[in-house]
Amino acid sequence: MPTYDYSCKECGKKFSKVMLVSEYEKSRVACPKCQSRKVARVLSTFYAKTSKKS
Ligand SMILES: [Zn+2]
Repeated sequence: MPTYDYSCKECGKKFSKVMLVSEYEKSRVACPKCQSRKVARVLSTFYAKTSKKS
């Protein structure tokens, strides 16, 4: 299952959720700390790691 990373715009809390894509499209993500819905999706850096030749 894909992991979705979020950053809360209210308190700055960073958290991640693991859920199905279908769940992701339906669900409303709230900050686990302050319950704010003002969360921004953060793209995982996991996929950004390309094979750079040193
Ligand atoms: Zn928050």
